[in-house]
Amino acid sequence: MPPGGYAVVNYHGVVPSDHSVAEVVLDGNLLRPEIFRQQLQFLKAHYHVVHPDDFRAWIEHGKQLPPRAVLVTCDDGLLNTLTDMLPVLQSEKVPCLFFVTGASCDLKPGMLWYEELYLLMRARPLDGLGLQLPGEEAAEPSRDFQAQWWSTVRRASRLDARARADWMDLVRSHCGGTPVLRSELSAAFRSERRWRLVNIAELRKLAESGMTIGAHTLSHPVLSLCSEEEARHEVQEGKNGLERALGRQVWAFAYPFGNSSAMGEREVALAQEAGFSCAFLNVEHWRAAPSNSFTLPRIHVTASTTLPEFAAHLSGLHARLQRAVG
Ligand SMILES: [Zn+2]
Repeated sequence: MPPGGYAVVNYHGVVPSDHSVAEVVLDGNLLRPEIFRQQLQFLKAHYHVVHPDDFRAWIEHGKQLPPRAVLVTCDDGLLNTLTDMLPVLQSEKVPCLFFVTGASCDLKPGMLWYEELYLLMRARPLDGLGLQLPGEEAAEPSRDFQAQWWSTVRRASRLDARARADWMDLVRSHCGGTPVLRSELSAAFRSERRWRLVNIAELRKLAESGMTIGAHTLSHPVLSLCSEEEARHEVQEGKNGLERALGRQVWAFAYPFGNSSAMGEREVALAQEAGFSCAFLNVEHWRAAPSNSFTLPRIHVTASTTLPEFAAHLSGLHARLQRAVG
């Protein structure tokens, strides 16, 4: 087992049956439901899958976890987490901690903005159209599509949420609307379960099914690029909105994108200040400080993670090998 005697695995949903994988950059985080089931069965056979409440009791009161404890988590709150992932979790009797954004407190939450941006930029390049964004890392024409997209995501993260939403409106109109759900387009864009975030009624269903809900900011920016005031608002109001919507305390937080370029000491302090009991990364290490309850590592599982790789990550072997090779 990794240091600390426990592991946290992190998913982003499963591929719904009405979706055909086309954009690997985006779909690469979603597992086939049968692969997801296989991994849960592996966890149950070799580890103690713990309920998020027991994990919380360990964090808050030091209540001992069973040996080889594993916590299952899932980020973002795509609709397939309710329609396609929850049935697998229920039939395997595995509890999960879901991190959702403030968008899921709405009636019509739409998509993750950076996924929508990816599809819009695929439909029509944004170059030279007066869609200026702050920041110096302007994409060079020679760079590949993915690098241009990610550079745009980082620059748009510097806008406050309102300005970013207005900018996305401009991009949408420039690109002739979001390809998703437009029936004349390829099947890859038609699946609501693939692309849409859960709305408030669906979020309540997830919570009422016995799953635990954690916070993942209001609008999923790269937090480290937000102004301090905006970052504080994203973290605190993400928590407050979910607590109002669900009528229960939200004690866990996951940093959006969750790596050392997306968060740092400031974000750790903001998560503490907001009143969370703990906060999760999306990586297995965080170099800037020794591990504490606000930089909890997670094993990020992707569609390309094989079962032997999954096992190596859980055993800590993968992390030890990485350290050994520097
Ligand atoms: Zn996320």
